[in-house]
Amino acid sequence: MQSISKDSIVYTMSGQNKPVLHINPGEQVQFETWDAFQGQIKSPEDFVELDWEKINPATGPVYVNGAAWGDILSVKIERIEIEPSGVVLCGKGMGTMGSVLQNNTVKVVDIKNDMAHFSEDLVLPLNKMIGVIGVAPKDEAIPCGAPDLHGGNMDCKEIREGATLLLPVNVPGALLALGDLHAVMADGEIGVTGVEVSGCVTVTVDIIKDKKLPLPMIVNDNYVMTLASDEDLDTAVDMAVANMVSYLKDSEGFTIEDAVMLTSLVADVRICQVVDPKKTIRVEFPRKYLTKSL
Ligand code: CA
Repeated sequence: MQSISKDSIVYTMSGQNKPVLHINPGEQVQFETWDAFQGQIKSPEDFVELDWEKINPATGPVYVNGAAWGDILSVKIERIEIEPSGVVLCGKGMGTMGSVLQNNTVKVVDIKNDMAHFSEDLVLPLNKMIGVIGVAPKDEAIPCGAPDLHGGNMDCKEIREGATLLLPVNVPGALLALGDLHAVMADGEIGVTGVEVSGCVTVTVDIIKDKKLPLPMIVNDNYVMTLASDEDLDTAVDMAVANMVSYLKDSEGFTIEDAVMLTSLVADVRICQVVDPKKTIRVEFPRKYLTKSL
């Protein structure tokens, strides 16, 4: 299996980025990744002198041979391995509570036996996930810290082992890059970080041709999910719901009325995050009510 070291990183997703690796469809590839702070924070003191240019690096990009405009890139998350220590922080001007907080505070979180040690008395089960994952956008470069139609910093906790992320191919080769692993994070990410951690991600990448889907989407054993990001949370909800309804209508054969009613009855609308330049919503539709396979 080919792998990319975390020496090969980008801070924007862009069609101008030079690929560091070429792979064939169906191939597995391993990405070694930095945490969102590129390893700058190892103790609470490090937060003071942070280089804000080195934030949200993504490892890559990978050129997928044969991927052409209009195709869909399928990225199956096989394995997420994380380092034994991560950081969580909060502070003035950051996240939902940033106007209330006076100080910037960092907590170093040890990770052992599949648990994150928040304090001596409080350990949390891991839910390892990928914060930043995307392809080159259609038009101009987008910073890795922002989510959009190309993926990016969606900070969605369902982008985890076993899930398949579907992304649009906007440029030849797609140019897949990823990073920003979280050991633990809840929907919302209200404080501005999860337990940010470096690690290694193994994915299987494939190309789907001649299919139209409202991307980005996630598929796992139990759910089909649509994702949408916007500065305005209400707009993001409308977009993600419209995407789900359009999927149910165009790919599953429901009338628009049945698609709306069913979404209202069985699909949960959830917040991925509210702290990035655009906020991200996902709609989760149970696959047990669907007959067509994606
Ligand atoms: Ca993030």
